[in-house]
Amino acid sequence: MPGFELFGDKERKEVQDVMDSGVLMRYGFDGMRKGHWKTQELEAGLSQRMKTKYAHAVSSGTAALTVALASAGIGAGDEVIMPTFTFVASFESILALGAVPVLVNIDDTLTLDPDAVEKAITPNTKVVMPVHMCGSMANLEALKAICDKYGLLLLEDACQAIGGSYKGKPLGSIGDLGCFSFDYVKTITCGEGGAVITNNKSYYENAHKYSDHGHDHIGNNRGAEEHPFLGYNFRISEMNAAVGVAQLARLDEFLAIQKRNYTVLREALSSIPEVLFRTVPQGGEENYSFLNFFLPTEDLAQKAQQALSDTGVDACFYWYNNNWHYYKKWEHLTEMKSLGKLPKDVQESMPDYSKTDFSQSDKWMSRNISCLIKLGWSEDDVAARASTMVEGIKSVL
Ligand SMILES: *Cc1c(COP(=O)(O)O)cnc(C)c1O
Repeated sequence: MPGFELFGDKERKEVQDVMDSGVLMRYGFDGMRKGHWKTQELEAGLSQRMKTKYAHAVSSGTAALTVALASAGIGAGDEVIMPTFTFVASFESILALGAVPVLVNIDDTLTLDPDAVEKAITPNTKVVMPVHMCGSMANLEALKAICDKYGLLLLEDACQAIGGSYKGKPLGSIGDLGCFSFDYVKTITCGEGGAVITNNKSYYENAHKYSDHGHDHIGNNRGAEEHPFLGYNFRISEMNAAVGVAQLARLDEFLAIQKRNYTVLREALSSIPEVLFRTVPQGGEENYSFLNFFLPTEDLAQKAQQALSDTGVDACFYWYNNNWHYYKKWEHLTEMKSLGKLPKDVQESMPDYSKTDFSQSDKWMSRNISCLIKLGWSEDDVAARASTMVEGIKSVL
């Protein structure tokens, strides 16, 4: 997955353009910038690649989620349905707005289970937020049907899945809003950065204003803007956007390498009857940033992961025990350990996660191993890795 592995001359050139003018901000300073508008270039490239009308770059993927929610008017007391397996940014962005994160079970796609989503809907539900973990998606058709039925927004967290698609559409472009992260370990990186994509003009304009202090950006004279509503600063810098311009141009190159490496490993593991691959919904194509599979039991999955790590196979994760990605290790959320007081709506409406039954999520996550696909591997590296993995897994069966 990590684009940083292939950081090179193209990235250096784009950054050098910004260094040469010294204009590190995305807005204004027209006379000094020597024609360089890297953030705008990144946004134009993204909306073209994702086939959406609009793209707005921000300072991180977490910022993108917050800005996307805010742009659609999500606020205090609104409930946002999110999966038990994701990154902590999901609930951070929701809580930042005083909204309530409602955790819901995943299924064998490793993302939101549509049946569980429908059961979790209350009169306060406003958004369904599927997270395309490790490069693949939920049954988006089913989720969209649920959103249409109940009048909810579909917000795709595609931070880990840029370049994947569903029924011919780029991931992120299927819901009302889609979000990407370009942090240092994502498929393409800006160092730090993120983006919101949408076809909705009003969400786009709101996102633009909200992420720059509520400035309305009308007219050339920065400083004379109106402030139609309150905002914050979630701006990306030109330096970061410049790296993104180079990396986005290389996205298809990265995806092709990921697919090649993924395919070699998957074909090798297919020879083991006990290995069951993650379900990819019909019509979906992963971005091949991870290879995910299940073993028959929790015990075997743990032993297999240990065997892989003992034989030097790095970057194969057992997320069930991981404190970034699975609800079991999120005590700060479940015990509501906030530095300051949380909004009343959150205190009153947050589900009691110590009592919630997530055994369906546990069933899949406890058996899952998730292997990062790197860009820098040579063909020999991948072949050697494939046979070591097969031996390692077989040794515990
Ligand atoms: C990385 C990530 C984010 C947050 O992105 P940052 O740029 O690190 O803030 C959000 N959601 C998921 C699924 C991610 O993997």
